[in-house]
Amino acid sequence: STSCLKAVYIRAMVDYCPLQDASIPCPDAGMAFRRGDLLEVVDQSDESWWQARKLPWAASCAGLIPSASRLKSKQREQWWSQPSHVHTCIRACERQSCTSCSPTLGSLSSPYEEVRLYQRLPQEKQRLIVLTGASGVGVNELRKRLIKLNPLAFQGPVPHTTRPIRAGQLMEREYHFVTKELFDYMMSNHRFVEYGEFKGHLYGTSVDAIDDVLRRGQICIVDVEPHNIQMLRTPRLKPYVIFIKPPSPERLRETRRDARIISSYSASRAFTEDDFVQLEEASQLMEAKYRHFFDRVLVNEDLHNSCMELFSFIQEAQQEP
Ligand code: 5GP
Repeated sequence: STSCLKAVYIRAMVDYCPLQDASIPCPDAGMAFRRGDLLEVVDQSDESWWQARKLPWAASCAGLIPSASRLKSKQREQWWSQPSHVHTCIRACERQSCTSCSPTLGSLSSPYEEVRLYQRLPQEKQRLIVLTGASGVGVNELRKRLIKLNPLAFQGPVPHTTRPIRAGQLMEREYHFVTKELFDYMMSNHRFVEYGEFKGHLYGTSVDAIDDVLRRGQICIVDVEPHNIQMLRTPRLKPYVIFIKPPSPERLRETRRDARIISSYSASRAFTEDDFVQLEEASQLMEAKYRHFFDRVLVNEDLHNSCMELFSFIQEAQQEP
């Protein structure tokens, strides 16, 4: 059939285990996958069951996976079987006809995301590198070190701010200094991939500032919180997402003994036991919730080695399909 001729690649957004699926016609032929796995769908001719291979190809032969519509209806069944939605529904609804529940149900994420096999040509723009991780793990420090290591190759986007320019600062170098009206306008036109407020002034990173770096032929490196990753995942930017993770509890405490953490008011102070616990918990939560967006995971044991490792991850990201 024609569906066999054109390869379709998807990224799984959910976990699937054929052994836990009583409806699968042939359990032995089923293929398990995890959220974030890349699959090549080799046959989509059946409405309910597709045949797919896991990437890289050498790792598996083709197996049976549920089609997107089948997985979606399974998700829906599971959602309805959870009692929690009944309590959150303001109408204490009759299941299928509730308008209060429907928007929530509609927001159930798609089980698969279609992806393309992409190889950057030498004349094309470099790929955007997105670093993310829990506060205190060293994401910003790694980004700064990398840029310092080779400012011709790596750059961060120039952020926008509504705060006044300070003596010695240059327009468009430290920041794009803009009015509150322009900032609001950009915000309502979804020009920022992230923004925030600090001491009464607005700060944000725009898509255009990222594009400026890429247009100059440099590798743009941004660090964002994971909930902002989705904004960056566009076919144009093709971000490569690296999650920075803390090392084992012992190594974390050992390596950060003399390190300083930036508190919310920019003053630095020594790490406390509470900071370590918070960092570990936040990191675990992030990984559980967003791991399907991460192309690589880097354990930041010590900044020097992690910076070197990051350097090679980024080179691979520019070359690998
Ligand atoms: P300053 O005004 O002293 O240059 O920066 C103050 C603070 O603004 C920084 O510590 C940082 O937390 C925040 N900031 C700077 N750039 C950005 C940005 O692009 N986005 C967000 N959300 N905050 C920023």
